Amino acid sequence: MNETSDCRKLVLILGDQLSPDMSSLRHADQKRDRVLMVEVMEEATYVRHHKKKIAFLFSAMRHFEQELRIAGWSVDYVRLDASGNTGSFKGEVKRAVARLNPEGILLTEPGEWRVLEGMQSWQEDLGLPVEILSDQRFMCSPAEFRAWATGRKQLRMETFYQDMRRKTGLLMDGENPVGGKWNFDKENRKPARSDLFMPSPKRVRPDKVTREVLDLVENRFADHFGSLEPFWFAVTKQDAEAAFEGFLEASLENFGTYQDAMLEGEKFLYHAVISAYLNAGLLDALTLCRQVETAYREGKAPLNAAEGFIRQILGWREYVRGIYWLKMPAYASENALEARRHLPDFYWTGKTRMKCVAEAVTQTIEEAYAHHIQRLMVTGNFALLAGVDPSEVHEWYLMVYADAYEWVELPNTIGMSQFADGGLLASKPYISSGNYINKMSDYCRSCSYEVSRKTGEGACPFNALYWHFLDRNEPHLRNNPRLGQPYATWRKMAPEKQDQYRSTAEAILNRLDQREEL
Ligand SMILES: Cc1cc2nc3c(=O)[nH]c(=O)nc-3n(C[C@H](O)[C@H](O)[C@H](O)COP(=O)(O)OP(=O)(O)OC[C@H]3O[C@@H](n4cnc5c(N)ncnc54)[C@H](O)[C@@H]3O)c2cc1C
Ligand code: SF4
Repeated sequence: MNETSDCRKLVLILGDQLSPDMSSLRHADQKRDRVLMVEVMEEATYVRHHKKKIAFLFSAMRHFEQELRIAGWSVDYVRLDASGNTGSFKGEVKRAVARLNPEGILLTEPGEWRVLEGMQSWQEDLGLPVEILSDQRFMCSPAEFRAWATGRKQLRMETFYQDMRRKTGLLMDGENPVGGKWNFDKENRKPARSDLFMPSPKRVRPDKVTREVLDLVENRFADHFGSLEPFWFAVTKQDAEAAFEGFLEASLENFGTYQDAMLEGEKFLYHAVISAYLNAGLLDALTLCRQVETAYREGKAPLNAAEGFIRQILGWREYVRGIYWLKMPAYASENALEARRHLPDFYWTGKTRMKCVAEAVTQTIEEAYAHHIQRLMVTGNFALLAGVDPSEVHEWYLMVYADAYEWVELPNTIGMSQFADGGLLASKPYISSGNYINKMSDYCRSCSYEVSRKTGEGACPFNALYWHFLDRNEPHLRNNPRLGQPYATWRKMAPEKQDQYRSTAEAILNRLDQREEL
């Protein structure tokens, strides 16, 4: 097909749909249809994404374009700096329609409600049929999730996960879970030690295509959050698969045991560091789970590791997507605890004397990555204890991580981390005092605050904020059965002690409000 001839269908591939198995490509005719891929300013800036995230996606898109061409597809690829680029999906589809005169538009559903909403008017505005197919990279469709959720009093991940195990047959012995239990999380809570062998994720040297993208991002997005270099992400399916193979060989064995651990200077521990690849389409979720199951069945990984890993993908990842499509658009503005404080400046700079927060934010600036416990029990925990507005917290998480897309980030932030949905997703708020962080990490040893001091100058801020959170949110939380124990402890506490906690916490919150150093 030459550049100007009419095509039958225009197949729009979005930036996080970089898989040859996309339903849109499977339904297209390579000889008569034409693929459209666009780099648009609107998507790169609707929140000011981390520079590494933009570079990863543009480079992965450009590499995918090459793969499609080699596979025989005709591709129209619009670069960010191409002349006439309108900067939006709709504008670029309009231009392509004028250029190519297609009979219709075909695409796989986008991952975000906002984008899907924007597409609702396309058919009418463009005067062409727009066919939106379901995204078959997921093991549970939004419709299946809705059916699962209908009539249930509680939408707990654990029940959903067990049903998904049955559905896929992953880690099943007939009707029963392998090992006789669905969940081995109790074995997965060991703190790590700095003398353990620590693998590191596979690093890929930027090729010419990536270097061009890095220059583009440096020029056009200089004021966005985060460091652009060193850039070592995989940007092709082949390299992403090699990165996962590296994880299977070096890290899976210890993945479960040290899943919740944190160590100073160790950014990745035994985590897979594949979420950015998986969410963009470079890796396939079910294939990863099968590979992990095989590793277990071949005796290369213990069950607590294999089950723990599969639960994250088959359970949590599918579940949060289900919640997202079930509850949007209202979910984005949930604020059950009526938290109104602004996000502290140190979320952008990492400049705080709290070692745990400084570590998590600094590595986020450097790598566009922090592992789950850093997100949940350090930055998330602090924001929740301090009463930060969940929509500001949500925007931060969406902006700063290379793996962040609203369908996965929003339920993790609003539901799991900030309890802003009032307990739809989590059965209790994920809060802790400094004790938990001290148990799971070595951060407290080199912190300017003392974790064992509960109140007054120099006390770990998490300690007083923890009790202040429970105290001020008592009207919302007093009937939560999982908080019975801490509320009983609070009620038994001497009034003078309670007042010390209150005044220490209020001094901390006041410093946050005055934007003073913490
Ligand atoms: C506040 C908050 C925000 C988050 N935002 C995102 C996000 O924007 N994008 C994202 O992919 N994950 C998000 N997560 C989930 C999780 O932290 C990341 O998936 C994980 O840290 C990615 O690193 P990894 O690949 O090394 O994961 P590993 O720890 O090695 O886990 C393996 C895989 O399991 C999946 N997974 C694990 N936990 C979750 C979860 N809770 N929800 C969905 N998938 C999960 C991921 O695909 C991950 O790659 C968030 C968690 C919290 C608490
Ligand atoms: S003492 Fe408190 S603030 Fe410091 S690292 Fe430990 S938990 Fe974090």
